[in-house]
Amino acid sequence: MKKQPRPAHVLVLGAGLAGLNAAYALKKRGVEVTVLEATNRIGGRVDTRRFADEPALTYEMGGEWIGKTHKHVRALCRQFGLRLIPHNLNTHLLIRGIHKKPQHWRLHQNWYGMMDLMMKRFPHLRGRRLTELKNIDWWHFLMQHGMNQDDIELLELFHSTDIGESTRFTSAYNMLSEYEENGGDIAFAVRDRIEGGNALLPEALAATLGPRSIHFNSEAAYIAQHDGQVFVKTTDEKMYNGTYLVSALPTEALSNILWHPALHPRQKHAMDTLSYARITKTAVLFKKRFWHDDRFEILTDTIAHHIYHATQGQPGTSGILVSYATGDRAATIGSMSYQQKLAAVCDALAVPFGDVRAYVQAVDSYYWGDNPYTRGAYAVFDSEDLASQTFLRKPNHHVFMAGEHTAQFQGYMEGALESGERAARQILYYLKK
Ligand SMILES: Cc1cc2nc3c(=O)[nH]c(=O)nc-3n(C[C@H](O)[C@H](O)[C@H](O)COP(=O)(O)OP(=O)(O)OC[C@H]3O[C@@H](n4cnc5c(N)ncnc54)[C@H](O)[C@@H]3O)c2cc1C
Repeated sequence: MKKQPRPAHVLVLGAGLAGLNAAYALKKRGVEVTVLEATNRIGGRVDTRRFADEPALTYEMGGEWIGKTHKHVRALCRQFGLRLIPHNLNTHLLIRGIHKKPQHWRLHQNWYGMMDLMMKRFPHLRGRRLTELKNIDWWHFLMQHGMNQDDIELLELFHSTDIGESTRFTSAYNMLSEYEENGGDIAFAVRDRIEGGNALLPEALAATLGPRSIHFNSEAAYIAQHDGQVFVKTTDEKMYNGTYLVSALPTEALSNILWHPALHPRQKHAMDTLSYARITKTAVLFKKRFWHDDRFEILTDTIAHHIYHATQGQPGTSGILVSYATGDRAATIGSMSYQQKLAAVCDALAVPFGDVRAYVQAVDSYYWGDNPYTRGAYAVFDSEDLASQTFLRKPNHHVFMAGEHTAQFQGYMEGALESGERAARQILYYLKK
């Protein structure tokens, strides 16, 4: 690829964190950018919401927690003056109808022994040992290490909320990396959120671009490259062109675009076959915080799966509990009516708190499998898909790929930001200094 003289004009597809961060990084270096966004809002899978009845309280329908090593998120928050607040939770259990308070449950002793050992050894593993961990899923890894069956089922409940699907779909390597980041703690509890809602971050990024840089309701349908230019046609037949293009779209959206010249068959195959985690979030606004503990969460084998206090640290008498269901549970609860969803949440809460239906003020729910651009929440790579990530990331002439699914911190807001910054860096490299 020849280096291009400035001035260049870059098209960015998608006003999620990846696209906005790419646009921000390019604009900072004096490159003109136009962002095309299919919907009428920015943020994509970052979706902070409020109930009309209680607009002071926020809850997250999409990306929520920020880990301690998520350095891009943290740096941008510092830059834009956004405050991070901890969101740590005390875990109750409700398994087979039996409620256990946080201090009243523990895994069997051999789990703690194995974890201590793994945490000491894991950072030093190389070569064949690491490959073995990448080639075995977490569930089978635990079985092979003689873990107690009840513990395996409990860990499946815990970690399927992190993976978004069963732990049978993620490698032992992935899970141990998560444990390493969280100091070996099963709850993966060291996490923050942005005060006032995570949507403040995409809003801050968008504000740096200027009002005319983002075109809403502009869904890319056709991408052509010729004469050193990239041309995009949207579903409403508008044409845009630029010197380069950053594609910051999820793979479902990418698969629906007509590409000319065609994408490399392995890249196209990787886009067409990548699975996204099934997640349903159901937020319930209650008139009273009957759970009392600001850090309340309950993990259950019922369909509600994981219910947590979403308005922790937000003052008020009313409060919001969110049910976070993943995998098959998400698909089942996702197909239910609002009344049935509410019943599923209230039934699970009835065991520790009695009948709570009288406190219900409002309900909101979203099954990410219904999202036309993602058909799920975030990409889930099994060990074979990992090789295909290289293809998903590969530039195509003047088109550079970004998005959570192309990143090292895949599945996170951090990954989306990291990927956008990388795509911008690649383009800046091709522009004359
Ligand atoms: C339920 C859920 C829970 C999550 N929990 C966490 C968490 O706790 N912590 C964490 O860090 N991350 C979490 N994530 C992941 C995180 O939200 C994502 O990784 C990140 O927001 C993805 O950003 P992105 O820019 O790659 O994609 P997106 O945000 O999906 O942005 C893509 C944009 O492209 C637009 N678009 C689609 N098709 C077209 C087209 N043809 N033309 C133009 N525009 C188009 C879309 O409308 C969208 O705005 C969660 C996500 C979900 C859904």
